[in-house]
Amino acid sequence: MIPGAFDYHRPSSVADAALLLRQLGEDARLLAGGHSLIPLMKTRLATPDHLIDLSGVGGLKGVRRSEEVFVIGAMTTEHELIQSEQLAEAVPILREAAATIADPQVRYRGTIGGNVANGDPGNDMPAVMQCLDARYVLVGPGGQREVAARAFYRGAYDTALAPGEILTEIRITAPPPGHGFAYEKLKRRIGDYATAAAAVVLTMSGGRCASASVALTNVADTPLWAEEAAAILAGSDLGKATLERAAAAAEAITSPASDLHGPAEYRVKMAGVMLRRAVMRALSRARA
Ligand code: FAD
Repeated sequence: MIPGAFDYHRPSSVADAALLLRQLGEDARLLAGGHSLIPLMKTRLATPDHLIDLSGVGGLKGVRRSEEVFVIGAMTTEHELIQSEQLAEAVPILREAAATIADPQVRYRGTIGGNVANGDPGNDMPAVMQCLDARYVLVGPGGQREVAARAFYRGAYDTALAPGEILTEIRITAPPPGHGFAYEKLKRRIGDYATAAAAVVLTMSGGRCASASVALTNVADTPLWAEEAAAILAGSDLGKATLERAAAAAEAITSPASDLHGPAEYRVKMAGVMLRRAVMRALSRARA
């Protein structure tokens, strides 16, 4: 399979990339790791006339910390995310979730920016970002703005990115030390996208759940921030009845398709199962 012809551009700054994007308009696509876009181009599901490669743009790579806020450059690869010891210590769900993505070859090239900006409901990091209440920094013709991951996804491949905008970084406030976390992903075989997955971050105090955040992957057109499920967990003892209620609340907001991952009814139930498992594992990791 051979992609259609395109012109290749390699800007060296965000300003130049934004200018190109504005000038070339709808015929241009940004290229990050290429592990979502290039397969689409090979099958001609995407036929951009221009590719604007971000790999020469300075300042888009790496992780830095400003007090409790971690700033992750959009061109940081999934592999680099896994390798970051400071992230693994303060926001460990990122390493756990990133390690479930595909295989090492994909993770060496695929970037966190491409993963969250693409709007593919199968991607793992968007739900993790919603669970962590991450903010995306977008730079475009109108200047710079910040959009919460929880408000970014509108439909499959439909996001809050406006024409000409580039995602430059992701900002995450680290959860409190001692928090519990888990990313539970059901997949048919190693390297697959999720049949259903759940991200959970919680804190415990005096034997009860003091706070909880829950999000789901690949059980709707967008990642799902499961606000009601989290509200059921918060303040509870995380007993069996509570988990059942939280799982039911999570299942109620899902709307998966029947596809290669399985029938829709099965995937709905698996969302609840992943949530229960994630809560139990997060609980086992939380310090009171
Ligand atoms: P690209 O493919 O370069 O770009 C993807 C899209 O995002 C394009 O439309 C591009 O224009 C846009 N874009 C990229 N960067 C920016 C930016 N900074 N600002 C605005 N728009 C931008 N992912 C998972 O999460 N879980 C999986 O299990 C999984 N399995 C995979 C298995 C295979 C075999 C393959 C090939 C991929 C898999 N992926 C999976 C996807 C992989 O993680 C991708 O690399 C990632 O989703 C996209 O990142 P990228 O850097 O390759 O983006």
